[in-house]
Amino acid sequence: MELTIGHLYPDLLNLYGDRGNIRCLVKRAKWRGIDASVKEFQLHDSINFHELDIVLLGGGSDREERLVCDELTAIRDDFKEYVEQDGVVLAICGGYQLLGSYYQMGDEVLPGLGLVDLYTKQGEERLIGDIIIHSDLFPMPITGFENHGGRTYINNNKPLGKVYKGFGNTDARDYEGICYRNVIGTYLHGPLLPKNPMLCDYVLQKALERKYQKPITLEQLDDTAEQLANQYICERLH
Ligand code: GLN
Repeated sequence: MELTIGHLYPDLLNLYGDRGNIRCLVKRAKWRGIDASVKEFQLHDSINFHELDIVLLGGGSDREERLVCDELTAIRDDFKEYVEQDGVVLAICGGYQLLGSYYQMGDEVLPGLGLVDLYTKQGEERLIGDIIIHSDLFPMPITGFENHGGRTYINNNKPLGKVYKGFGNTDARDYEGICYRNVIGTYLHGPLLPKNPMLCDYVLQKALERKYQKPITLEQLDDTAEQLANQYICERLH
């Protein structure tokens, strides 16, 4: 089996080692004998979404998001079709904000991709720190680090999880992230996937099931070190 991962705008959207998510996907696929290759797309490249099984959008500063935003119209329709056909997307922080209809900073409104019914507004304080969320997708809590000025309102969509420590989507400290079809959006850096291998495997499994049109069970890996790290951070932040 094989997978192709599309990394969108790695030079602009790559805060706090978000690139590490790609390395984790490739490695955990390879450990199961699945060949994963990565295609990087820069700002003016054309993207054939039909060739991709996973799309990653990392986090970026407001300035970088502005630069990316100007280019989004060129890919919006194809990207939307990919999402509606259950294409797998992982979008972190700035990338998560760009999934929505807009990101408002004072009087300035950056139009997003409009792939998911959500929007973001900048608040006064930045929301910064370690974060733990509980997702009904996994028994183990999801851990990470957040640093964002935007507050994301997800309307009637399903969040990725419930906040246990930290902020999450807004100051309300209630929910974090979004799950829409096979799209996961989240504020969690870390990078996210090496810290949360079950989420990495979830992404791989969804992508393989879509590509090969059959149920896939991934071989278990030894995640003892990751589980101990997860336990440690949960106890420390308790
Ligand atoms: N620029 C966005 C914000 O501050 C996202 C930052 C990030 O990706 N960490 O809200």
